[in-house]
Amino acid sequence: MREGEGDGLIPLKSGDTVCILGGGPGGSACALALMQEGRRQGIDLKVVLFEQKRFKEHTQYNQCIGVLSPPLETILREMLGLSLPPGMAKKEMAGYCLHGDRLDLPLTGEETGHTWAVSRADFDEFLCDRAIEAGVEVINNRVTGIEISAGDVLVYSEGRNCRAAAVVGAFGLDDGSAALFEEATAYRRPDHLNTIITRLYPGDDFLKQMGPVIHAFLLSFEGLEFGAVTPKQDHLSINIAGRNVSSRVMLNFLRSAPVQRLLPPQNYREKPLHYFRGKFPICPARNLFGHRYVTIGDAAGLMRPFKGKGINSAILTGVYAARTMVRLGVSRKAFQSYIRDCSELTGDLWYGRALRFLTNLSTRFQFMDRLLKIGGEDPVFMACLFNSVSGHLPYKTIVRQTATFPVAIKIVRELVNRFVLHTSLRPGPRSKKGEAGLTP
Ligand SMILES: Cc1cc2nc3c(=O)[nH]c(=O)nc-3n(C[C@H](O)[C@H](O)[C@H](O)COP(=O)(O)OP(=O)(O)OC[C@H]3O[C@@H](n4cnc5c(N)ncnc54)[C@H](O)[C@@H]3O)c2cc1C
Repeated sequence: MREGEGDGLIPLKSGDTVCILGGGPGGSACALALMQEGRRQGIDLKVVLFEQKRFKEHTQYNQCIGVLSPPLETILREMLGLSLPPGMAKKEMAGYCLHGDRLDLPLTGEETGHTWAVSRADFDEFLCDRAIEAGVEVINNRVTGIEISAGDVLVYSEGRNCRAAAVVGAFGLDDGSAALFEEATAYRRPDHLNTIITRLYPGDDFLKQMGPVIHAFLLSFEGLEFGAVTPKQDHLSINIAGRNVSSRVMLNFLRSAPVQRLLPPQNYREKPLHYFRGKFPICPARNLFGHRYVTIGDAAGLMRPFKGKGINSAILTGVYAARTMVRLGVSRKAFQSYIRDCSELTGDLWYGRALRFLTNLSTRFQFMDRLLKIGGEDPVFMACLFNSVSGHLPYKTIVRQTATFPVAIKIVRELVNRFVLHTSLRPGPRSKKGEAGLTP
């Protein structure tokens, strides 16, 4: 153990600086919470946030779809004293539809709170501006190095450097920044899925007819774990995720029958399509905190492993980390309390993994349509599908609510049909484009 890395908590005191690497929702929320909590505890902190993007300029793309789902408004209000400004929410989403290879199932269920589609750059700018108003110094430069010693931290950037009592890694899944942390600490980046995202501009009439419904696709084709089509204010955001997704997999996805049934006819589509790459973490990072450092949001891999709600998790973990630093300190020992605060996310990990594993098995063995059929008939299984796709309940609760005898019997019966008797499903009647029926 190095000097200063003992069992102490290393509490922050007035005049100390905390440096945050990354000004996405996690970093900005953490910065704002540090200022607010510092004032509450009578500690006058300096918070310096490095963010390479200038959100106002809208010149850098963000891979995120920008769906803010419950309880985001509650988190903002109760943890940061914020509410979404008028005009931020571009569209209220009103439901979900799950698509298999041949069947679609509009999901019914209830969410407490609103699901809004926003522009991610606007949302990031809003949070970052609130941090600046609270006294946070934002430096629009890329961080290029970190040194952590027993007594302090030095953060290098393409512009100014910053000496601090602690550094917060809020850099998402940026490979370069993860490498900086891995070099300077025992941090190891989380495992992830790759994503490709594109946009279609089908026109107002088509968007109106489609309705504010998020379409999730669980299809049996190679390279794809899941896909989604989300109607936004003036376009459709289309994303796919998997270990090895590429533009070719995206093209196959777009050409697949279930997606073609939903998309506008060819002549209403913008060409050529522009593709963007992104990543989702699917498990926590290793050594995600330590002496004078802590990671939050995607960098920490602290999010629901399947239906992400990544913005919510980034804000929550940012606030938890800030509270720990102000109330307890910046040592490894102090950050044990941070990880305990994140137990709602970490405690759900194995359940989420199990559901992801079963979902992947179902698509691989072309069993998803059978599950949609059960969902159409059985309210308990419908609730399971709704809560999984909306991310409304923890996976632990979903698994416990669904593991009932009647549901198990139905699944076993369908498994026997699928694998032993080899019966086939007929797709149900489709009333109109984008609105499909399910064979009862
Ligand atoms: C395709 C896709 C769609 C998604 N859709 C949704 C959705 O609809 N709703 C939702 O809740 N979640 C969604 N997510 C997840 C969500 O985008 C993330 O979980 C969330 O952005 C994590 O926030 P963060 O603050 O941890 O990291 P980020 O938002 O990634 O922010 C990291 C910031 O750090 C900055 N940065 C990185 N390295 C440096 C450096 N060296 N120097 C300076 N700055 C640096 C970056 O510029 C960036 O602004 C989606 C993810 C993907 C891949």
